[in-house]
Order: sequence, then C-alpha cells, then structure tokens
Amino acid sequence: MSLGFDLSVLEELTSNAKQIQDDVLTKILKANANTEYLSRFLEGSSDKELFKKNVPVVSYADVKPYIDRIANGEPSDILSGEPITAFILSSGTSSGNQKMFPRNNNFENIKFAAALSSLVISKHVHGYKQGKVMIFSFTQPLSTTPCGLPLAPATTILLKSKNYRSPAKNSTSPDEIILCTDAKQCMYCQLLCGLVHRDEVVSVGAPFASLLVQVIHFLGNYWKELCSNIRSGHVSEWITDLSCRDSVSMILGEPNLELADLIENECGQESWQGIISRLWPKTKCIEAIVTGTMAQYIPALEFYSNKLPLVSRTYASSEAFFGINVNPLSKPQHLSYTFLPNMSYFEFIDVDGDGEIVDLVNVKLGGYYEPLVTNYSGLHRCRVGDVLQVTGFYNNTPQFRFARRKNTVLSIYVEPTTEEDLLKALTSATVVLESSDLILTGFTCFGDVSTVPGHYVFYLELKAKVNNSTGDLLLDNKLLVECCCAMEESLTSIYRHFRAKDGFIGALEIRVVEQGTFDSLMEYYVVSRGSSISQYKTPICINSAEALEVLEEKVLARFLSDKSPPL
Ligand code: AMP
Repeated sequence: MSLGFDLSVLEELTSNAKQIQDDVLTKILKANANTEYLSRFLEGSSDKELFKKNVPVVSYADVKPYIDRIANGEPSDILSGEPITAFILSSGTSSGNQKMFPRNNNFENIKFAAALSSLVISKHVHGYKQGKVMIFSFTQPLSTTPCGLPLAPATTILLKSKNYRSPAKNSTSPDEIILCTDAKQCMYCQLLCGLVHRDEVVSVGAPFASLLVQVIHFLGNYWKELCSNIRSGHVSEWITDLSCRDSVSMILGEPNLELADLIENECGQESWQGIISRLWPKTKCIEAIVTGTMAQYIPALEFYSNKLPLVSRTYASSEAFFGINVNPLSKPQHLSYTFLPNMSYFEFIDVDGDGEIVDLVNVKLGGYYEPLVTNYSGLHRCRVGDVLQVTGFYNNTPQFRFARRKNTVLSIYVEPTTEEDLLKALTSATVVLESSDLILTGFTCFGDVSTVPGHYVFYLELKAKVNNSTGDLLLDNKLLVECCCAMEESLTSIYRHFRAKDGFIGALEIRVVEQGTFDSLMEYYVVSRGSSISQYKTPICINSAEALEVLEEKVLARFLSDKSPPL
C-alpha cells in the first residue's frame, strides 16, 4: 500500500517547525474564534498575539463544564468550530481519574503520524516490511453520552472509525478479531493467529509494555489449549463471538500436528527465557512503550525476548498526538520523542524555573517542561500533566525524554518523591535482582501512614527464571532486604535525611505478591473503573483503598530495610 509520502516529510516538518506551528494555530483560531469559549477572551478575533495574551492556561477541570454541556446535547460550537462527533475517555490510570475529551472525526493527523512512525521503523529494522506484525490491540464496547454521541477510549474510537481503519495487511490478526470486545476471547484469538503465522512474524508488541507482559502470562495459562486447537484444527467452544470465531477458524485451517508439537515443546520447557524469540523466531523487535511508568517492565520483556530491541514508537495522549521516536533502536534509557509540529499547537511551561511559557521551537536543551495543548477539537492551552525534558533537536524540532507525570508523587513527611525518583529506586532493585534467579514482572507502591512513622511500601511481583518442581517462589531474605536497602539508597537526599537522621520516615518495605496479582489489578481498573486495556498503565503509586485491597490479598512475604541509608 502506497502512503503517498516518504521519509523526506519528516525532514520538511522538523526543519520548518516554527512556520508549521504558526499555521496550525492560525487554522485552529480561524475555526474556533467564534466559539462561546474563545469569544469570551478574543471577541471573535483570531489574532495569535491576542490568543497568547488573553486566553488562560487551563486544566481539564476548567474546561470540563463546557465539555459536559456538549455531551449533554448543546451544540459543538460552545468549544469547537468543527462538529464534535465523539468523546474519548482517558485511561485514568496515570492521572488518577478518567477524563472525557471531545473529538471531531478527522483522523488524518493520527493516521499520518502512525504511518510516518512505521516508515522510520522500516528504515531501521531490516526486514520489517517483509513480514507480519503481531501487535495486540483491544477495543471496548462503545457507550454513549446523554446526547447519543459515542464515548470510548481513544483506541476504540480510532479502531472502530471507518475514517481510520485501513486494512492492516501485515497484521497477524484480522479486524474481526481486534474488534471483538470480549478481552479474553480477543487475546486468545490474537495469540492463536500469531502462533499459526509464527514463521512470518517480524515484530511482537502491544501499545504499552504492561499489556505485552500480560499477554505472555495469558499464554502461560493457555498454551496447552492453544496447541490442542492447532492440533485438531478446531477452535475452543468458549470462543463464542461469531465473527471472531469464523475468522480465527479460517486462519487455523487444517489440523497441524507438527506446529502443535513444536509450540508444546517450547512452552513446556522449564524456563521461559526467550520464549518470544523461540515461538516467533524471525522477530526483530518488540514494539511497546517502555518509557515512564512502563520502564518497570523492561527486565521482563528483555527476559522473554532474549534482549531483542525494545521499540517505543510514539508519545501521545487523549489530548493530542505529540511525537514519534526517530531512533527506534536507541536504548530505553536514552530514548526521546521528536514532536510533530503539524499535530496540534504546542506550548511549554518551564516547570523548574519561573513558569515561563515558550513555543515549541524555543524550549531550551536540558530544560523540564509541561506541554500545553491547543487542538482542533476544542482544547485551548490545556495542561497535559506530563513533565518532559529536552534532550536535543532534530533539525529545528525539539526532542523530549518523558520524565514523569506531574502529580504522581509519594510523600510521607514533607519529602517530595517524584515518579522519576521511584523509577530510579526500582532500577536499583532490578540491579540487585539481576544476580538472582528472580525477575520483576510488576511494581507499584504506596505511602503507608498506618505505621508510626509512616513508610514506603513497594509491591513487587516476582517470577523465577527457571520454574522449580513445586512451582513455589523461593524468596531469599538476604536478597530482598538488600533490595530494600538499595532502593532507599537511591531515593532523594531529602528522603534519606528524614529517614536516617530525624527518623520521620520508617524503614522501606517490600511486599512480594503472588504471580498474576498485577493482572488482577489491571482487571480491577478495567472492570470496575472502565479503563481501556490498550491504554492501561500500571499506576506507579496507588492511593485507592480498593486497588490496595487487590494487592493486599495476594501478599506472599514482607521484607524491611535493615539499615538507614547513607546521607
Ligand atoms: P491517556 O490519555 O489515557 O491515553 O494517557 C496518556 C498519558 O499516557 C500521557 O499523558 C502520558 O502520561 C502517558 N504516555 C503516553 N505515551 C507515553 C510514552 N511514550 N511514554 C511514557 N508515557 C506515555
């Protein structure tokens, strides 16, 4: 399929970022100047300087009343010149609460960004275009707003939109399977298709790393049944979604004893190290976002793939599509995203300095910024809540490292521990675990103030690299206490001060949870909170009592740091 453009577009966009951003803002202001929202500040003008002077920087809560009015049936032009045709729900797992954003049905931008990112990958990953990709995608049932407009997570709205769907000829799973809204049937059938096509698969992935790890766990539970389906040429009876069943049956074809034996042999081995490369031997890369909170899944994915390159393709949110990774083979710790100036109008608040607001092309190398989005569907100067660091420029366009969510911090006394600090502590734990037989497959934490003094609790899900005969996890007390100490050592100097000198913070605790606990946590968010599987991000820090209960029920053992960290 011809895309109608090649990689020279990336050069053009990034070389002319300033002009393109200017044009995007002009276009948005011309379309939206007469909306109720903007005319309060601009009185119908579409002057850019006036926009910057008069239109306030807002948070979601400030625009929510306008969004709710449209959802309840008032006309779109309260906020947007273009008709609002759907509402997308943010995952709510990184920011704590779900938000609803208006959308028009122009998906050209997102289609373009996805195609551009594929071109970049094809350039860097030899043979990528010649094979099939097995990227696990999921959709949820559409609900509707009171006025009858569709409401669903962005991935669902996109995948169901006729304007967006293009036949993904190189995907192992056909649309009928991806559009099945029963997550278990959908995952099972995607795995079955992927296994049947195993010799052609060049890339294995999911939108976020957590989901891919969950797929591997699911495979761990279902490989015998999948093999039996392949052996008999008959799909399990519990696959009841008719179009899913029809299309997977067609792909399954005749009984294939040889393939079933081969998969059984690989999955039946004691260690699942390299299972992805063993089952899909031509896989060249793992496509899944491993930045931000997803960094915790890097050891597990490296283990399952025998260290294939981990490719984080894009940085996007329900508010806007921001950028793509133009060096897809760079190591996760050096990874940055190049903003695409044609997606939305972007401004940046300097979060470490005086709160100055600058344009895309005026951010400073090394600086930390929170992006503001002005988009085509009714957001104007809206805070995203992420903190990004400028790592360089591609032509004239900045590249950003994802640093953290702005508001996700842990604090027991008055120490501000950021998401980035927690991830650093996690890396220290991973280094200690590397020498052992254990790998980390899940991580989150909370501040336990029921003890005096309060202390940090880290829930870790661990898996043995090689299964022992009993299937029990052997936990070495010395090793896990060492992990606790290493984590404390890597936390901020303020934490260490309050912990060691003043005793305002108690010893850091690791609670090891049963295998599958983080799958249950995801289920809790998806089932009871309506989050989307595709967009789910394990919360790095938890403060919901119900979510903590899910974890507490599965605690196998507890370990405490046995010494104060050095100051
Ligand atoms: P949602 O709006 O629910 O899709 O969530 C969007 C949020 O997910 C962003 O604001 C980020 O916090 C996070 N996110 C998205 N893409 C990435 C990425 N590539 N790396 C790290 N975090 C990401």
